[in-house]
Amino acid sequence: MKVDVVIVGARCAGAATALLLARAGARVVVVDRGRYGTDTLSTHALMRGAVLQLHRWGVLPAIVNGTPAVTATTFSYLHEDVTVPIEPKYGVEALYAPRRTLLDGLLSAMAVESGAEVIYGVTVDGLVTGTDGRVRGITAVAGGQRHTIEADLVVGADGLYSTVARHVGAEPIVVGRHAAAVLYSYWSGMNEANYRWVFRQDGSIGAIPTNDATCVFVSVPARQFKDRVRAASLGPPSGRANATEAYHRLLHEVCPEFGARLEGATRVEAVHGFGGHPGFIKRSTGPGWALVGDAGYFKDPATAHGITDALRDAELLARAVLAGTTTAMEQFEATRLELSRRLFEITDEIASFAYSDGQLQSLHREFSREMSREVHALAALEPLPCLSAAG
Ligand SMILES: Cc1cc2nc3c(=O)[nH]c(=O)nc-3n(C[C@H](O)[C@H](O)[C@H](O)COP(=O)(O)OP(=O)(O)OC[C@H]3O[C@@H](n4cnc5c(N)ncnc54)[C@H](O)[C@@H]3O)c2cc1C
Repeated sequence: MKVDVVIVGARCAGAATALLLARAGARVVVVDRGRYGTDTLSTHALMRGAVLQLHRWGVLPAIVNGTPAVTATTFSYLHEDVTVPIEPKYGVEALYAPRRTLLDGLLSAMAVESGAEVIYGVTVDGLVTGTDGRVRGITAVAGGQRHTIEADLVVGADGLYSTVARHVGAEPIVVGRHAAAVLYSYWSGMNEANYRWVFRQDGSIGAIPTNDATCVFVSVPARQFKDRVRAASLGPPSGRANATEAYHRLLHEVCPEFGARLEGATRVEAVHGFGGHPGFIKRSTGPGWALVGDAGYFKDPATAHGITDALRDAELLARAVLAGTTTAMEQFEATRLELSRRLFEITDEIASFAYSDGQLQSLHREFSREMSREVHALAALEPLPCLSAAG
């Protein structure tokens, strides 16, 4: 099989890139080792840039129906609460936090409607490389059989532990110093209408209204994670039972007032845990390859901005691919870095948990200015070409 673009990973980064390329008429195959419509280890608060992208791509109506509209964000600091209303702008009236089953499934289904082929159950384990060193395709295993797909471009949208990034040797440009660990689950009966971010000494909590429930996470420095899980539970720091017990205890320990609010609510799902990973921005293009989403740019969940940037870079990459020049790919690399660097650095500082209330508020104000700059850059883009019937 030979196509224009083969994309490894069919979640927000890969499926969005496929959707945009297929709409513009490119022959695209997306492969993913997972299954369609499944969940993944992530909370899912979207910021304005993501909602703007989904609006422009025509994806938002299918999300708005059934996902609560968030019209303000409350930052709860040690000494004061600050509520920031979402100002209607660029067609964005509210923020949303759709479950990944919904968001990723929708993007994948719309990529297919637009003409992309999306194949699940395919594990990519290598790249096809020409004698000139250019990447020319992928090798994969599916159903016990080996497969090769040749392509003019291989896009790694395969997440934090990207196989594509490893095979092309994508070197880090910036590396983070800090990491936060996260435990999260879903609650009914919370009556939480806003995004609520609670910051305390050595811990934070977030409440994210989503489909039929509120996602509640508690986050602590990764270096303390095992000890604090052990201290908060009865057994060794492994196993779901201990994570569940630690989750409940840490919510009360980090912020007793927040813990008290949960007493009238019911946890309706299992507890999920992420041990933390320092962030990175890696080189994202080379001969015959590109990276998008976490594969090339991972930052700590502390600022809940990974999906927003994955969607941003899906569009920037699709534009570069459609332009079809090396200069356009270099421009993608440069723009991605220029828009990401401060977001990345501030996120890393927030993930350190080493700040006073005043310092944290000033980091949040700067992050907000950087998000506005990102949104402004996205809003200024001309609409992408749309040749397919579904576009
Ligand atoms: C605990 C936690 C909380 C978070 N909370 C938020 C939040 O609130 N808001 C936000 O914006 N971001 C959040 N993030 C970040 C967000 O989850 C990521 O930025 C986002 O998932 C990146 O999407 P992606 O498409 O690049 O990669 P992924 O979502 O990781 O998808 C990669 C896909 O590639 C596939 N794949 C991997 N390897 C292979 C292979 N070899 N062959 C075939 N397929 C492969 C996988 O099956 C997967 O489907 C959070 C992250 C974590 C860990």
